[in-house]
Amino acid sequence: MTTLTTLDAAAVDRLRQETPGTGEVIHLNNAGSSLPPDRVTDTVLDYLREESVRGGYETAAAHAERIEGVYGSIARFLGAGTADISLTDHATRSWQAVFYAFRFGPGDRILTCRSEYASNAIAYLQVARRTGAVVEVVEDDESGQLDVADLERRLDDRVKLISITHVPTQGGLVNPAEEVGAIAERAGIPFLLDACQSAGQLDLDVRRLRCDALSATGRKYLRGPRGTGFLYVHPRLRERLEPATLDLHSATWVAPEEFEIAPDGRRFETWERNYGLLLGLGAAADYAMEIGLPAIEERVAALAAQLRADLSRIPGVTVHDQGRRKCGIVTFSVAGVDSWDVRDALHGAKVNTSVARPTSYQFDQQVRQLPHMVRASVHYYNTEDELRTLVETVEKLA
Ligand SMILES: *Cc1c(COP(=O)(O)O)cnc(C)c1O
Repeated sequence: MTTLTTLDAAAVDRLRQETPGTGEVIHLNNAGSSLPPDRVTDTVLDYLREESVRGGYETAAAHAERIEGVYGSIARFLGAGTADISLTDHATRSWQAVFYAFRFGPGDRILTCRSEYASNAIAYLQVARRTGAVVEVVEDDESGQLDVADLERRLDDRVKLISITHVPTQGGLVNPAEEVGAIAERAGIPFLLDACQSAGQLDLDVRRLRCDALSATGRKYLRGPRGTGFLYVHPRLRERLEPATLDLHSATWVAPEEFEIAPDGRRFETWERNYGLLLGLGAAADYAMEIGLPAIEERVAALAAQLRADLSRIPGVTVHDQGRRKCGIVTFSVAGVDSWDVRDALHGAKVNTSVARPTSYQFDQQVRQLPHMVRASVHYYNTEDELRTLVETVEKLA
C-alpha cells in the first residue's frame, strides 16, 4: 500500500471495507474508542489463539522480533527514537509514569491549561496537597486556546513543569502545543503533553512539538485495541527522572544490595503485558502511517467543520467548540432537550455519540459554565451521508 496524500472517495471506500464496524453502526464516538480495522483485530486474535495452543511464554519467544518491532512502529509514528518509547496499557498510566517521577517541593509551580483532563488535574491536586507545590491554570486567549503570552509571563525559576492537554476530551480545540514547546525549551522547563485525543487524528511529531514527554492511548483516534497506550520521553528528561515505582523489568537486581534502572523507555514500564494487544497497537500505528497522518488530519478536520456548520444552522442547537484551530471533536447541545436524551435518540438511529460531563473538565467548566454536551467525534472513515443522519436526527429533536 502506498502513502495516500489525500483521501478521495475511493480511498475512503476501501478503508471502510477494511473496517467491518462501518457496516453496522454510524460511529461518531471516535474520541471514546474508534472502530479498529480488520488488521488490528486479526493481529490480536491470531496471537491469542497461538498463545492458547502454544503457551504464553513460548509464543512471546517465537514473536520476540515482532514485539520489539512495536517500539519501532510507535517511534516512527511520533518521529522519535526507539529507545524513547514505553509501551503501557493506557494513556493515564503513561502520563502518571512521568508525572509521579517528578519530585516537587513547597512553592514549586506546575503550569497547566484550562482545558486540562480530569485525571491529570486530580494528580496535580494530590501532589500539591502532599508536597506544597502550586498548580496554576494558564489563561485562555479570546479564541479559547491556551494563551501563550500568559504562559510566558508566568515563567520563573519556580516553575518545575509545564503540563497541558493537546486536544481536550470536551471539544474540538487544538491547543498551540508547538508554541508551548518552543517556550518551554527556551526556558529549560520540562514540557509534558497529553496527546491522548490528538494521536491518530493530527500529524504529530515530537521534534516539531519539542515536548519532553508525550502520553497517548491506543483505542481512540489511533484505532488500536482497548487496554493499550504508549509514552515518549526525551532522553534529556529520561536521564534525570527516576520512576516512582520499579520492578524487575524497569530495573535489574544486579547484586543482593544493588539494582540498575533500565537506560531506555522500559524504565517506565512494568513486566507483565498483553502481547497480543501490543501487537495490535503496532499494527494500528503502521496502518495510520500507511494512510498518512497529513491526509488523516485533513479529512477529519474537514468532516468536523462540515458537521459544525450543519448543526449550527438548526434553530436551538449550540455548537460549543473553541479554538483558532479545530479538529475532529464536535460538541453541541439542544435547547430544552437533555443531552443524554439526544445521545439516546441518536443511538436509536444507530449513531454512536457520547456526552461530555463537567467532572471531566472542572477548570474549563468554572469559566464556561457549559451544559452537558453531546460529543460527536468524527474519523476519516465516516461519510457525509453518516453526518447527514446525525443532523437529521438532531433536527427532529430541536
Ligand atoms: C481519554 C483521555 C485520557 C485518558 O486516556 P486513558 O487511555 O483512558 O487513560 C487522557 N487525556 C485526555 C485528553 C483524554 O481524552
